[in-house]
Amino acid sequence: MHSPRFDNLFLRELPGDPEAGPRLRQVDAAWSRVDPTPVAAPRLLAHSPEMAMELGFSENAIRSKAFAETFGGNALLPGMDPYATNYGGHQFGHWAGQLGDGRAITLGETVAASGQRWELQLKGAGRTPYSRSADGRAVLRSSIREFLCSEAMHHLGIPTTRALSLVATGDDVVRDMFYDGHPAAEPGAIVCRVAPSFIRFGHFELPYARGDVALLRRLADFTIARDFPWLQGQGEALYCGWFTEICRRTAEMVAGWMRVGFVHGVMNTDNMSILGLTIDYGPYGWIDDYDPDWTPNTTDAQGRRYRFGWQPKIAQWNLVRLAQALSPLFDDPAPLQAGLDAYAERYAACDRDNVAHKLGLVECREGDVELMRDLHGLMHAAEVDMTLFFRALVDVEHDAATLADFDHAFYDAGKRDQHRPGFEGWLARYCARIADDPLQALRRRERMRAANPKYVLRNYLAQQAIDRATAGDADGIAELLDVMRRPYEDQPGREAFAAKRPEWARTKAGCSMLSCSS
Ligand code: AMP
Ligand code: MG
Repeated sequence: MHSPRFDNLFLRELPGDPEAGPRLRQVDAAWSRVDPTPVAAPRLLAHSPEMAMELGFSENAIRSKAFAETFGGNALLPGMDPYATNYGGHQFGHWAGQLGDGRAITLGETVAASGQRWELQLKGAGRTPYSRSADGRAVLRSSIREFLCSEAMHHLGIPTTRALSLVATGDDVVRDMFYDGHPAAEPGAIVCRVAPSFIRFGHFELPYARGDVALLRRLADFTIARDFPWLQGQGEALYCGWFTEICRRTAEMVAGWMRVGFVHGVMNTDNMSILGLTIDYGPYGWIDDYDPDWTPNTTDAQGRRYRFGWQPKIAQWNLVRLAQALSPLFDDPAPLQAGLDAYAERYAACDRDNVAHKLGLVECREGDVELMRDLHGLMHAAEVDMTLFFRALVDVEHDAATLADFDHAFYDAGKRDQHRPGFEGWLARYCARIADDPLQALRRRERMRAANPKYVLRNYLAQQAIDRATAGDADGIAELLDVMRRPYEDQPGREAFAAKRPEWARTKAGCSMLSCSS
């Protein structure tokens, strides 16, 4: 099998743990060498055609035994040099100390023909020094979810880590899915995820918390040089420009989530990428009926810290933690505040952009933010499907829309009738606003179609693919992925994938709620 070229800069340029292997320990370095633990019977269940092509794997290579062995953790390609990285993090608002890659093992950094650097990382490949009390493994259900959502987000145009492959291990993994004292064996799997960098806010927080400014500085210099090579300047000015860039990217990422109804579910600082990529797909979910207070994560059901509507401010809270971690690099931390201000500014700009694009306006004027806010209020009160409503808004007659055009987006006819006057009033305002907008009708629809996806990875759709795969038929994964490759296009014959959540999925585990157990 062809092997990509590897150039393992993280290992080469940052200080490593003198000990290799998975013995649990506190580590005063950036990484620890550790090999994947072999599995019984690796079998490829799905792959991303785009990612395979980018990395130079042919269809034949993908189908080969060697591919499943490599990306199931049983074999290495020339140049791979596996390691786990060290980071800390704030979990649910509290400092958690050393966490690290407890079940992620990086195989190496490749440089693709395109010149792009890609780190290949197995998730679920066995114990590392950072596994704490856990097993380093991942179950099939959560691996399918990570695989599908990574690629779905990419095709939606939202910054994300990617996924190359999904391999069944042939080994069982024991999980207590509902944390109710009923552990059960489930099939295990491994995703090979791919990103230019898997560096997280928590990588900087850990040396900060330990007072290790030397390591903090080396990590910052390394990250800037490898992952932000376009940044200019030196010293504090460079660090400041870098932090501002992280803030801007984070704002763009979260605005993307808010546009399509994605709820990350565990926005701990160890799950925040320095490149502003969506990372660590765990108990995430997608908004069906519009509800800013919804979180899919049952572990967070009490405080709902990571609810849909709070994501922009939680991202800012996380950036404040990062600013604090970087503060030893500054004599005067004032420039860090400028970065945080840049977050607020960029988020506000992206939010206005979302309004303009989702509503089909050439620009977002003062009253338009309110127009959108009022729509959100109505959608929440009347239990309206977010994706279906906005998509229907693309196709209505923009001078004569009626509520009947949106009938299929309502979950409850009673609530629809109750809020009919509200919606009719809103549609009248909207039509008047459109009449006052210079965009030509065709261009308007184009603009709206590109901002309002027809297909999103609804929780129940992923769960159906999981149920099928668990019963032995993995084809549902590739089928669903194929739909998600063109989320903004109408795909005749695939209407079922654009349907609203069926009633049975309202309260079913995996569809409406997910635990962190994965
Ligand atoms: P998460 O909430 O999934 O982002 O995980 C938080 C921390 O727990 C990270 O350090 C993970 O590597 C670690 N972790 C989660 N699940 C496992 C597992 N099954 N085995 C080892 N470490 C894990
Ligand atoms: Mg994590």
